[in-house]
Amino acid sequence: MFFFRLFFCCCRQGNSGEETWTTRKETNKTIENTSGKGRSNLQKETESRGSTKIVTTPTRTTVSPVTIFPTRELLERNREKAQAHTNSEKEWEDVKFLGVGVFGYVRLLRNVKTEEFLAFKEVKCKPTTFPSEELIESIIHSQLDHENVIRLFFWRKVGQTLFMYLEYANGGSLGDLKEALAEHDALRYFEQLREGVDFLHSRGVVHRDIKPDNLLLTEDEVLKIADLGLCSIFVWRGVEVPQRGFVGTQNYMAPEIFTGRSYRGPPVDMWACGVVLFNMLTAGLPWRRAISNDNNYVLWVHRKKKIFSRKLWNTIEGLSSLSLLKRLLAVDPSERDSNWLQLPRQENTHQ
Ligand code: ATP
Ligand code: MG
Repeated sequence: MFFFRLFFCCCRQGNSGEETWTTRKETNKTIENTSGKGRSNLQKETESRGSTKIVTTPTRTTVSPVTIFPTRELLERNREKAQAHTNSEKEWEDVKFLGVGVFGYVRLLRNVKTEEFLAFKEVKCKPTTFPSEELIESIIHSQLDHENVIRLFFWRKVGQTLFMYLEYANGGSLGDLKEALAEHDALRYFEQLREGVDFLHSRGVVHRDIKPDNLLLTEDEVLKIADLGLCSIFVWRGVEVPQRGFVGTQNYMAPEIFTGRSYRGPPVDMWACGVVLFNMLTAGLPWRRAISNDNNYVLWVHRKKKIFSRKLWNTIEGLSSLSLLKRLLAVDPSERDSNWLQLPRQENTHQ
């Protein structure tokens, strides 16, 4: 099943001209290339420095993975919910446009009788694969039920269009925040992010696109991880499976992804959580671009010199935040992983 996912992932790239990796956005790029072939100069440069140690040893034993081949029960449950929605279609009014993604738009629906809200995401499926990777995303997503992960209630596929009916987060996203958060607020959101990421990992799912735009908020300040479009399964028959490919949003991608070799799934999310925490604390990024001609990035990743003295780092006052960042942004993924397991929860919630 995992190899199906890998296969489908491989089929995702390919329409992007000379480079085989796909640029999904002009700014804050989300990138995908699971082939490992036709790597960009950035990757080749990073690779030639060869500073990243790849560890593929399985470490987690508590994972109870989601299935990517839907069970009859799962399909039946989905069919019933979709049917119930169709039956009450007249009760749902289209309230407003919520956002646009690369593959479609998201709108807000409101039930005039019950006052319930739903986020309605329409995605045009690429006809190249069957079942489409978007459908696999829905199958995975519908099995994920956690306070800090946007719920997918049900989906419908009509021709080449997939309709996803999602839990609505009414407070925007972390990407909307224009100023640095107070440390206790940043750590509170970080703790929720960590809960959500831990849950995904406990179900054998690695998100691979953790970034502020994909972290939605409710008006009660609950953080919800959204957009599982690049997620992948990292456990197959109880064994951890290495990830491959140039996948994610560049500034949030862990250094091992740029090497062109396989890498472990969970630590790439942990690194991205570190960059998100930095962003919440400073309203900026630790480097202008995760690229080998960016001085701060090179100092951190390749020369392993600490850049705490630099401008934005200086604005972080709390020692526990600095220590957290240092542990999450460990260049060695195995160090990152063990640090994550040891992060004291109390430390993250109270300052
Ligand atoms: P991209 O690849 O650009 O991240 P995408 O096609 O994967 O986009 P999403 O990230 O899922 O799409 O959604 C696009 C935008 O729609 C989000 O940034 C957010 O503003 C809004 N949105 C998506 N889902 C919800 C939701 N459940 N509640 C509220 N707003 C949402
Ligand atoms: Mg998104």
